[in-house]
Amino acid sequence: MNFRNKKFFRKILKTSNVDDSKYSLYSVINYTSILCLAVHLILLTVFFILGIKYLAAFNMFSCIIYAMAFFINRRGFHGYAVVLAICEVVGHATLAIMFLGWPSGFHYYILSLVPLLFFSKDISRPGKVILNILFCVVYIVLGYYSAANNAIVNLSAKTLNVFNNYNIIVTFSSLSFLAYYYCMAVEKADKRLRKANRRLEVLADTDPLTGLLNRRKIIDEINKNINEFKKTGKNFVLVMADIDNFKSFNDNYGHNCGDLVVTTSGAIMKSQLFNGGKISRWGGEEFLILLPNCNIKRGKELAEKLRKSVQDTTVIYKETKVSITMTFGVSEYNSNIDIEEAVGNTDRALYEGKRKGRNCVVA
Ligand code: GH3
Ligand code: MG
Ligand code: MG
Repeated sequence: MNFRNKKFFRKILKTSNVDDSKYSLYSVINYTSILCLAVHLILLTVFFILGIKYLAAFNMFSCIIYAMAFFINRRGFHGYAVVLAICEVVGHATLAIMFLGWPSGFHYYILSLVPLLFFSKDISRPGKVILNILFCVVYIVLGYYSAANNAIVNLSAKTLNVFNNYNIIVTFSSLSFLAYYYCMAVEKADKRLRKANRRLEVLADTDPLTGLLNRRKIIDEINKNINEFKKTGKNFVLVMADIDNFKSFNDNYGHNCGDLVVTTSGAIMKSQLFNGGKISRWGGEEFLILLPNCNIKRGKELAEKLRKSVQDTTVIYKETKVSITMTFGVSEYNSNIDIEEAVGNTDRALYEGKRKGRNCVVA
């Protein structure tokens, strides 16, 4: 194929941006119209060979309709493509039954319209119900009509049987195709929804600057530990950590430096936690740490370790070395108090540390 031909095909096969929510409908119509085009090309040839001119002509028309459905679907008009397919199927079934009679089995095609109709998103729900009733009526009327009238063309029982089996196979295939696609679409939508939910959950629990837990999430976690204490008597420890003279970083080097100091100290402390310890950004430059199943002695030791690690780290902001120190308040949860009181105790210890001159741990 030369270059010019390739460009031509690319142009006529071009798809407009398909709406994400309609992608499965788009795919169904895309493949169904190709399948139907092939089915009708075969029928066109057979009717032509059998000399049934009217049906051969109608099948030529059908091929054009499916080609149109294929292209307008690619341009985003999925609803019109479905309407075209409905008109073709009903018209084709009616004509074929009138010409060849009920035993030819051309009425089965009407059945495959039901799932296609429900798959379509452009037709309203009442519209779908009305159309379905209409298909049912057409199906019954065609049965009555062919019982009362002779077929226009008389084919042998053997030929009619071949048509009947061909139509059964095509109807089965299209029904399975539609059902398969429907299940795939549902599964895909379900997967996407679960993924989006997981992402939302993480976002709802995370502080955007530091990536640590946020206040809401740590409150949840503390409440869980309070409930656990009520059931099993397991103590836990809260540590409130605050960056010393943080305002000076903002004032001397700018807000971006302040942000870097917050993120760095948060990351240092997080890297030192173990045994299910959780760290959150409580607000501004304050961090609240939860140490489950822990006592005040071990809590103080850990806070001291965190204090040293922060002190020993130098942050480099725009080629300037910036040193950070932090003050820590530690309290053990060992009696039935509420969360406000527990955090208040930790806060008071922190305040005491600030009063004592900062860069220390107070329990
Ligand atoms: P102390 O040692 O007593 O804790 O003094 P401090 O300067 O650290 O505390 P202070 O409460 O006086 O100042 C905290 C400042 O932190 C005030 C506010 O402008 C700043 N701040 C709060 N949140 C952020 C933030 O997300 N980024 C930056 N860069 N600054 C923040
Ligand atoms: Mg501070
Ligand atoms: Mg503060």
